[in-house]
Amino acid sequence: NVPVVAIVGRPNVGKSTLLNRLTRNFRSGAIAVDVPGITRDRTYHSAFWNGIDFELVDTGGLVFEEGKDKVPFIKEIREQAMIALNEATAAIFVVDSTVGVTELDIQIARMLRRLGVPVLVAANKCDEEQRALDANEFWKLGLGEPFPVSGIHGSGTGDLLDKLTEYI
Ligand code: GDP
Ligand code: MG
Repeated sequence: NVPVVAIVGRPNVGKSTLLNRLTRNFRSGAIAVDVPGITRDRTYHSAFWNGIDFELVDTGGLVFEEGKDKVPFIKEIREQAMIALNEATAAIFVVDSTVGVTELDIQIARMLRRLGVPVLVAANKCDEEQRALDANEFWKLGLGEPFPVSGIHGSGTGDLLDKLTEYI
């Protein structure tokens, strides 16, 4: 039984893109395939870092206020994400550094703190070096140091994974 790491966050922050990037870093043959923004089900992807085998679970966006968002299957998405979190050893909470902290991010952060699972905040879309400073805004989520990453370019993912392997 390998540790499971849930990748959570609201829709369109880049969860699937980041998972793809992380998986590609480890070994071939486990590329995530889904339609951007609408991962309904949980998909599991084998990963390996610092000598540790684990599973990354992609989830649909966590949405708490139904009707306010145009993402379909909101209830199912939330259920799948909660199932993933309940079995997770740790979670990567992906946020969008080009947008900043949103009300939904704050709600998700509150829920994650309540669950008590170790959480790493991945401030995604820090594509250029100067954007790394944007990640600091996410300290206010109360989940510790935000890690600036780019799912598209891969920058910052090594630091994120180094930290992750301290928790799993
Ligand atoms: P998800 O709904 O959280 O799984 O988000 P997706 O992975 O489907 O990505 C949503 C959108 O954000 C897509 O258009 C991606 O190309 C874009 N995106 C994801 N990661 C990055 C990134 O690191 N930088 C930029 N600029 N765009 C990104
Ligand atoms: Mg997705």
